[in-house]
Amino acid sequence: MQIAVLGTGYVGLSTGVCLAEIGHNVYCIDIDERKIELLRQGISPIYEPGLDELLQKNIQNGRLFFTTSYEEGIKNREVIIIAVGTPQSEDGSADLSYIKKAVCDLSSYLKDDVIIAVKSTVPVGTNDELYQLLKDRCNKNIRVDLVSNPEFLRQGSAIHDTLHADRIVIGAKSEEAAAKMKEMYLPLQVPIIQTDIRSAEMIKYASNAFLAMKISYINEIANLCEVLGANVNDVAKGMGMDKRIGGAFLHAGIGYGGSCFPKDVKALLHTAKSHHVDFAILKETVAVNERQRRLLVKKAVSRFGDLRGKKFALFGLAFKPNTDDMREAPSIIISKLLTELGAKVTAYDPVATENAKKILGDSISYAQSAYEAARDANALFVVTEWPEFQQLDVKALLDVMKQPIIFDGRNIFDLETLNSSLKAYQGFEYYPVGKRAFI
Ligand code: NAD
Repeated sequence: MQIAVLGTGYVGLSTGVCLAEIGHNVYCIDIDERKIELLRQGISPIYEPGLDELLQKNIQNGRLFFTTSYEEGIKNREVIIIAVGTPQSEDGSADLSYIKKAVCDLSSYLKDDVIIAVKSTVPVGTNDELYQLLKDRCNKNIRVDLVSNPEFLRQGSAIHDTLHADRIVIGAKSEEAAAKMKEMYLPLQVPIIQTDIRSAEMIKYASNAFLAMKISYINEIANLCEVLGANVNDVAKGMGMDKRIGGAFLHAGIGYGGSCFPKDVKALLHTAKSHHVDFAILKETVAVNERQRRLLVKKAVSRFGDLRGKKFALFGLAFKPNTDDMREAPSIIISKLLTELGAKVTAYDPVATENAKKILGDSISYAQSAYEAARDANALFVVTEWPEFQQLDVKALLDVMKQPIIFDGRNIFDLETLNSSLKAYQGFEYYPVGKRAFI
């Protein structure tokens, strides 16, 4: 099929590359000239495992193209997928200015019947508005169908998730448009659920809000485990073995971040509020997350008292492993709080340092390795659970620190498996989340 994808961010690029991989001809369009220039050369502007290989392969086999020109990209396409950003506005609602502009801009280039599939996350009712915008602007002699096709990929495994999704949601008014979308996705062999447009929009928000709630729930259980002397890892495992609960998203830690959960939860709360619905459980999900992001700093203050002049190492800056995305990363608030309290912070992240510098600037220092970050530190904070941190020689790490103290915000180190010599390490202190500290 002939497909265009508007927006080459995490979602648009992964979608475009994967649709080319399953045999479609895909034009990816973005207004960002720098991105398009890099992509034309087969260089991905974002870090996503497996993306580079598929990008280069499909450019070479002539199925994947990049352009900043709507005219070139949209001409003769059967499906146009919209994957532009819908960031958070100041009042918590979704900022729909990019998607509205994209829809208005593309409408003047539509010459033939086409399906517009909205993959961007948009509040319930938005697609009706977008359809109206299209109808008002498009040539009246062509048929334009609008389909809601929300995306569920996770950054860090975007390619895998696109090729092996749990489900594809298609919200459509027209059976023909839904059938065409199913045909497009057929090679993926993924279960498809077809609904009306508003239900499809809601499935996305309800799913993300539920996952965020699950994270806040286990974090509250963790805080209780800590004071009661239980071990949240065992508790989560025991809970997760119950098929009605499931083990995913039960990892206690310092809260969720990223470009989706925080903004989608707030957008759903905004929608509820504007319809006079008190979505109490979701309000509390946000409040718990805000507290949880501050947890390591709170623990450091109760351990050290005055943080002035102390030096702390941050392990990880990205909001989660396997991505360079810094949007709403807990590392931002942790760095800010620590420096405000007079501490010096040196951070190490395997891939997110350049993006972190754009946000944190020179308020903190950046190291080239975990050991360099830990050198002379009074304590280290595990902020992102990058697999490489689990492989570290902890004894060697403690050796270079000023004080052998770890605040583990992601429970990556397991005291039971740290060898006994480490437990006897002079002065070693270990503060996990939801488990007894080792002092
Ligand atoms: P992103 O910020 O990484 O990328 C958006 C891209 O759209 C940018 O490259 C930008 O230049 C481009 N763009 C903006 N206006 C444009 C226009 N008029 N024409 C063409 N391109 C334009 O965003 P993202 O993370 O890929 O998210 C896109 C959408 O998908 C959002 O609605 C998001 O909520 C949703 N979503 C994201 C994820 C995720 O994990 N990132 C997962 C599921 C859904």
